[in-house]
Amino acid sequence: MDKSQHVREIYRLLQKLYPNPVSFLNYNSPYQLMVAVILSAQTTDAQVNKVTPLLFRNYPDPKDLMVSNLGKVEIIIRSTGFYKVKARNITGAAKKLVLDYNSEVPENMDELLTIPGIGRKSANVIRAHCYNKPAIIVDTHFSRVTGRIGLTDSSNPVKIENDLLLLTDNRIQTDFSMLINIHGRKFCTAGNPLCEECVLNSICRYFTMKSDEGRGFCNVYKSSLSENSLTDRMKSLYHYRQYLN
Ligand code: SF4
Repeated sequence: MDKSQHVREIYRLLQKLYPNPVSFLNYNSPYQLMVAVILSAQTTDAQVNKVTPLLFRNYPDPKDLMVSNLGKVEIIIRSTGFYKVKARNITGAAKKLVLDYNSEVPENMDELLTIPGIGRKSANVIRAHCYNKPAIIVDTHFSRVTGRIGLTDSSNPVKIENDLLLLTDNRIQTDFSMLINIHGRKFCTAGNPLCEECVLNSICRYFTMKSDEGRGFCNVYKSSLSENSLTDRMKSLYHYRQYLN
């Protein structure tokens, strides 16, 4: 199987596992999603969802947020962390929309990247969810899972995005991004991936390597037991360490 076939198989398996992937951020308009994605940096979507109802009640459109009192905004969003920077970013973003984009969130990537607090990942989220543009959305979950599976060898988000754009049909790119993101939260977690239970383990590079290492260790260790001397066992373990390096 080549990597494109892997992607199609991964997509099929994850669609079956998560038939209704949904965005984890709550929003009702492009403006609200833009603010929510800025607030989601370095925190959980659940935490953002706790503060946005009050924020949007107080500042229902970009003009309101643009002229808001920074201190009041900071109090509302404080629990999302980095609240001073985020308050400056969301008020700055609102100002940018009002002054340069007629109070609308643009859909063009270059224009989105001119908005304070919006990077490539956030721009892709907005393009995908508000404007139905195909997008590979690279966040920490996506980088980790695609790297482990073996779909990319890079840790650079732009390179990962480009690698995956080449491997995926644009009709599935947004859904594929969401499915991988969900899988990273539920199974392929950073600290302790649940590989034994994972539907992707038969096509995952990380799992294959881990299994091979396990088999290598067993063979080395079994032979050490028959030699019956502590020194030999230590030597075998030393060789096993070398094997892993
Ligand atoms: S087998 Fe393990 S490393 Fe591979 S995708 Fe599944 S959980 Fe992640």
